[in-house]
Amino acid sequence: MDDLKNVKGIGPKALTLLQKININTIEDLVCHYPFRYDYLKRDNLLEVEDKGKIIIDGKIESVPILMRFKAGLNKMNFRLVTQSGVVGVSIFNRAFMKKDLEVGSGVTVIGKYDKTKNVITASEIKIGLLSNKVRIEPVYHTTSGLTNKNISTFINMALLMYGKHINDYIPSRYLEKYNFVNKRTALNIVHNPPSDEKLNEAKYRLKYEELFAFMYKINYLRKQNKNVAKGIRRNIDKKSLEKFMTELPFKLTNDQSKAVEDIIKDMESNSRMNRLLQGDVGSGKTIVSFIAMYVNSLCHYQSALMAPTEILAVQHYNNLKDLLKDTNIEVALLTGSTLKKEKTEIYKKLASGTIDIIIGTHALIQEDVNYNNLGLVVTDEQHRFGVNQRGNLQNKGLMPDILYMSATPIPRTYALTIYGDMDTSIIREKPMGRKPVKTYVKNSSEIKDVLQMMLDELKQHHQVYVIAPLIEDSENSNDLATVCDLRDKMKLAFGEYFKIDIVHGKMASKAKELIMQEFAQNKIQILISTTVIEVGVDVSNATTMVIFDANRFGLSTLHQLRGRVGRGSNESKCILISDNDTKRLSIMEKENDGFKISEEDFKLRGHGDLFGTKQSGDMCFKIASIRDDYDILLKAKADSEEYLKDEENDLELKKLLIDSMNTNY
Ligand code: ADP
Ligand code: MG
Repeated sequence: MDDLKNVKGIGPKALTLLQKININTIEDLVCHYPFRYDYLKRDNLLEVEDKGKIIIDGKIESVPILMRFKAGLNKMNFRLVTQSGVVGVSIFNRAFMKKDLEVGSGVTVIGKYDKTKNVITASEIKIGLLSNKVRIEPVYHTTSGLTNKNISTFINMALLMYGKHINDYIPSRYLEKYNFVNKRTALNIVHNPPSDEKLNEAKYRLKYEELFAFMYKINYLRKQNKNVAKGIRRNIDKKSLEKFMTELPFKLTNDQSKAVEDIIKDMESNSRMNRLLQGDVGSGKTIVSFIAMYVNSLCHYQSALMAPTEILAVQHYNNLKDLLKDTNIEVALLTGSTLKKEKTEIYKKLASGTIDIIIGTHALIQEDVNYNNLGLVVTDEQHRFGVNQRGNLQNKGLMPDILYMSATPIPRTYALTIYGDMDTSIIREKPMGRKPVKTYVKNSSEIKDVLQMMLDELKQHHQVYVIAPLIEDSENSNDLATVCDLRDKMKLAFGEYFKIDIVHGKMASKAKELIMQEFAQNKIQILISTTVIEVGVDVSNATTMVIFDANRFGLSTLHQLRGRVGRGSNESKCILISDNDTKRLSIMEKENDGFKISEEDFKLRGHGDLFGTKQSGDMCFKIASIRDDYDILLKAKADSEEYLKDEENDLELKKLLIDSMNTNY
């Protein structure tokens, strides 16, 4: 398709601004969907304020008079008959519209109304009376220098010039089956909705298309894995493995053992491992991956473990070093802070095969690191990697086994869909000795009780987390609790006897680290923070968590937060303070299982936050939402499976779908 700059009206300046909001192609532009719609009612001339905004329709009464000025400017005037009276209309620089503004024809005029002159200075004139009494106005995400109107104009021009050539990813058989309109019509409707009914139909069709393409890719990857990808068939020295397992610092839980079994089977078979290891925070996924890497080393292959943050990478490195200290397996750490000289050395050793296991951030696989014989890649916190990254790994010419680990509890039915290209192992039970966290939902009028509960714990020399949705008042529009405000209040209540401090995302990482360290050493007894407590905080003496305005969070987030207490042998408490939404929150009182909580969250939808925010590459849909459009997703899943099976047809579209893998999502 043509370049964006060839769309009439898009100059160099607009081009840069569009790029700023990630619009680089004509397809990006026409698929820049409104994030909401405003419903504008028709005004009455008598009720609009002087110089106020007006939207009104009527019939043209006089032939428009066109005046031209220097510098190419022009102005047009005509009279309009409306239900509330006759009014003058002027509009600048629309000479090209003159031929459409015939006497007697109906138009909708949007502009500012000057009462004394009885003239509307129009910013926009739409030809035709709309059948309903409201006008549905698309509202777009934009950037400064680019108005909503600009975007709308560009989109409509692009549709006019190139609408016919925009890729439609829905095979014709499904277009027919569901009686869908074609892509161009659907796009026209979502950008210029004539009615709610038409808009919903068009949105449904575009959502289906997006989900169909997504599911096609997932199914394609699965098929690739099954048919094409040859894996490494290993002969595992079972004696060494058994010895290693008995020397572990603890006995594995049943679920952990089962996961290890699954992985060993994958490693012995000649089809490639592509496994997702799911387990709640603290369920003990790490040790399972360590065992897999140990086995891989036994068979003389290299392993790479990728963690989402440097802190986690270092933690894994230290733990693994410790676990393997009696072996001759060489473990190395490679992160952004590794010195250049050291890095070069590590690269060399990876290429020669001297290093057996490398641990780092996921740059490990993106950079041009050469391995001698990479046999296993483990990625921690898989939900941060999208489908395309899954694809990337495969396309790099590497054929290692892959083990993904994720702590995001996803309902099973749902996991089967979006992780449909992977096998899964699930760890449900927690290691022995963990007591469930007692959870209470409290009204804000019960704050005295809450303070008393805190005091009881503090008196036993235990520590307390306090969570607020916001940092300080300046960002506060709804009277929500803030970290700074709570610090002052907690100081009033407890400051005389206990040390109180705060930590939040806007602090420098050094300062954060220091506070966390002091909390870990019990130099701070009450720590107030936002949800952004550093990953991997593990303070077993902290037994209580108090969450203010708890209704602001999804259940899964609350569950993750709660996971920071209940780590020691003491019984722990979590107190959720909220005046609203208490029925939903009460699920937390009954449930301690992350999977069950996410199922509940999923059923309730509105507040579900299965993936946290913006974390998952899988969530970057333009119009569909995996959460809200689950029924469409299931349809798209079934159809794409059927479509993939049928090998002969539509080769061109199939290639298009696969190619879109690296550009979309
Ligand atoms: P996650 O699944 O969240 O990554 P980790 O692997 O970090 O959890 O494990 C959490 C803690 O539990 C670690 O300190 C780990 O050593 C410990 N652990 C893991 N498995 C067991 C077990 N079977 N018995 C006792 N402790 C365990
Ligand atoms: Mg972990």
